[in-house]
Amino acid sequence: MSAVAIIVAAGKGERFGGEVPKQFLPVGKRALIEFSLQEFSASPVIDSIIVVVPRGIPESLVNLIMTYRKVDAVVFGGKTRQESVEAGVRAVRGNPDVVLVHDGARPLVSGEIIERVYREAKKSGAAIPVVPIPDSVKRSEDGRVVDRSVPRETLFRAQTPQGVRFELLKRALEKAREEGVSCSDEAQLVELLGEKVSLVPGSRRNLKVTFPEDILSFKAFIGEYTGDFRVGIGYDAHRLVEGRPLYLGGIEIEFDRGLLGHSDGDCLLHALTDALLGAAGLGDIGKHFPPGDPSTEGIRSTEIVRHAVELLSGEGYRVVNADCVVVCEKPKIGPLSDKMRESIASLLGVSPEDVSVKGKTTEGMGFEGRGEGISSLAVVLVEKVPSGE
Ligand code: MG
Repeated sequence: MSAVAIIVAAGKGERFGGEVPKQFLPVGKRALIEFSLQEFSASPVIDSIIVVVPRGIPESLVNLIMTYRKVDAVVFGGKTRQESVEAGVRAVRGNPDVVLVHDGARPLVSGEIIERVYREAKKSGAAIPVVPIPDSVKRSEDGRVVDRSVPRETLFRAQTPQGVRFELLKRALEKAREEGVSCSDEAQLVELLGEKVSLVPGSRRNLKVTFPEDILSFKAFIGEYTGDFRVGIGYDAHRLVEGRPLYLGGIEIEFDRGLLGHSDGDCLLHALTDALLGAAGLGDIGKHFPPGDPSTEGIRSTEIVRHAVELLSGEGYRVVNADCVVVCEKPKIGPLSDKMRESIASLLGVSPEDVSVKGKTTEGMGFEGRGEGISSLAVVLVEKVPSGE
């Protein structure tokens, strides 16, 4: 198994406008091209990656690209896509079975598509990922009136990576050069030789960022991941007293005493709230829920967490996961932890697998050990969701 990926990112992005070529636009804390770099680096079928960039890009971007695993070379591209692919091919070391050529402006390529293209190209010589065309398709010579409708079942949109056996790609590039032909993709190059190009399923997610509005579709697709993360930590402790129900993690627990507090005393949710607010730099629970405020007397702490989550979402943050510790001698937290995880997950808008609640004792030491109170710690990770501007 041996495949080289050539990621072509040499375009100046004229159709996109702006000063930064679209393939290097920052999305969260990453440049657009890093999304595909990540996917190719992680693919088990890829041995080596060559990235083709435009002349004059900042050295910091070259260094950033080189930090990705398997990147062997960063080379300068030419005036056309074909020239850029040729520059990439010249940098290929050894004799790989297949070369996969990918548009640097297609950030959402998946590992499945990479493997599918690789396997089919290895078997049949050349393969490209395609998607059906949802719109009706018309043919018009003058662009003013319809000459005829074209059955769209026979038409497909070609995506990348396009996979070609290395020797076939080299022959095709040579032939195109000899004949002075400029091809818009590798499939067309292979057609020049009269060789077959196989189709494999692509994906609508695997979009090409061409126009400014494409960034919005891209951001909608990656709603789940931007790389712009922040962590927060929280701690809280309350006294155990008789005559109060015990709330921990948003659930009521059968116990002979409860936690004393201005609210329901749920120190786990208070620690969690502080972690949330801290992650977003929004202060702490006392700032948003002053302990002397009569309007919040006896408030359920689930309301406090909900309020914090709302504040965070107003700032564009979403919770990724939370890890919590409850320190007490009794009650035993282990048997309750799944219920607490579910309760916390629903407050945070994540799944229970993204929440952990662990119980700890202190071997009789301290106020927790003597049963005078319960303390809690929480760490949360939040992520900034792209705002779409
Ligand atoms: Mg508290």
